[in-house]
Amino acid sequence: MALHLHNTLTRQTEPFEALEPGRVTMYTCGPTVWNYAHIGNFRTFLFEDLLRRYLEHRGNEVFHIMNLTDVDDRTIAAAAGAGKSLQDHTAPFIQAFFDDCEYLRIRPAHVYPRATQHVDSMIELVASLMDRGLAYRSDDGSVYFAVDRFETYGRLSQVEKRELKVGSRVASDEYAKEDARDFALWKAVSPDDEAVGAAWDAPFGRGRPGWHLECSAIALSHIKERYGVETLDIHAGGIDLIFPHHENEIAQSEGATGKQFVRCWLHGEFLTIGGTKMSKRFGNILTARDLKEEGVDAAAVRMLCFSTHYRQQLSFTDDALESAGEGVGRLGEFRRRLIEASGASSSEAVDPPPEASELRAEFEAAMDEDLNAPRALAAVFSFVRAANRRLDASGWTAAAAAEALSALDRAMEVLDILPTSVDVKAELRDWVEERIAARQAAREAGDYACADQIRDELTEKGIELEDTPQGTRWKVRGD
Ligand code: AMP
Ligand code: ZN
Repeated sequence: MALHLHNTLTRQTEPFEALEPGRVTMYTCGPTVWNYAHIGNFRTFLFEDLLRRYLEHRGNEVFHIMNLTDVDDRTIAAAAGAGKSLQDHTAPFIQAFFDDCEYLRIRPAHVYPRATQHVDSMIELVASLMDRGLAYRSDDGSVYFAVDRFETYGRLSQVEKRELKVGSRVASDEYAKEDARDFALWKAVSPDDEAVGAAWDAPFGRGRPGWHLECSAIALSHIKERYGVETLDIHAGGIDLIFPHHENEIAQSEGATGKQFVRCWLHGEFLTIGGTKMSKRFGNILTARDLKEEGVDAAAVRMLCFSTHYRQQLSFTDDALESAGEGVGRLGEFRRRLIEASGASSSEAVDPPPEASELRAEFEAAMDEDLNAPRALAAVFSFVRAANRRLDASGWTAAAAAEALSALDRAMEVLDILPTSVDVKAELRDWVEERIAARQAAREAGDYACADQIRDELTEKGIELEDTPQGTRWKVRGD
């Protein structure tokens, strides 16, 4: 089966096709770095991580762009409040964002362009929209996009059809206006902007870019430079960005290029607490660093996020986090067991046991179905149960266990939910040390055949032994 994704543009779950098969350009709206990102934001970034990893799992070469919004109303107000320049204010939050992504095992984007470093391409985009008669300069010195001159405006959010769900977009959106029509591309300079260093000269007057403009300019300039195209395969973000942010991105980009901006739009639902969207505005936030300080394993956070489909709201509770942590622990123990069972395996090829083949097939079938991670997780845990039964009954050879381990690891490359304590090097060390002790015992008992056999077993795994008067030393071949 082909990978199917739900495209917000068509409201259909459809086969995903990249412009150039096998190569995917993916743009995700990054954080506004006025403060720490919260785990609501990270739910969206984790859904995007899952998307990226699965595209790669399926053999695509993905070029992932994530912008950092380091100039907008919120960053300017926060910098002005702290009496700092925009750059000094945002720098520690950018670093914190990268640290949090690392903690949460989010695969890094290929580029993290900052809005303030792309003002030139934004100015060019505004100029080109003015040339095409799609933008006008108002009396206050700002430049606006004339929505009525862009025929397909509203197609993504179906704004004309009044299908917006109250509470998810317009009503609760901190960026939305009541009048969703003309929007600012370029905002005339204000004293606060000057004070924090958020002002640039442009042919149409000194000012700063509007928030929507940054994503269009950054996305277009990167894919054009890299691949000579002006169409993204995938653009993703949280559901609150559909309107007006993404609607406006389409108007700006397609207005300037005349080409389709994005082939497939994906939007993730909110993370909620007690039924309310997590948001700094509502004072109900929890940050990734809070969780880290509490000693929460990132694997549990990932597992919790993946246990609900990305297009469903996810209710965050301590109980849910705890039970995700238990699931992660079970997986870690199970993997340890598989490693032990496969320890003596030779490199000889065997047919994988049916449980392993089923996991591979069911995992992909689930993920192909619009990234159905809850179903993929169910497949992983039913595999754990079935495999444990086999192991209890000694029904697997070492080679069969090795096949099962590799099927599990293949799914884990995408989900990445093994406990942090399960680090492969530590596992290898435990196993090698156990084998060395067994060899020593065999030698002491005069069973040299058995001792040699253990040495061969280690050699086969790339472990070299050296017997010294202080005991047996070991190293990984090539290290
Ligand atoms: P911001 O830093 O406000 O620009 O938001 C960064 C990303 O987080 C955007 O894609 C938002 O849609 C997303 N987001 C904000 N709040 C939540 C939430 N409670 N649940 C899920 N995603 C969210
Ligand atoms: Zn954006």
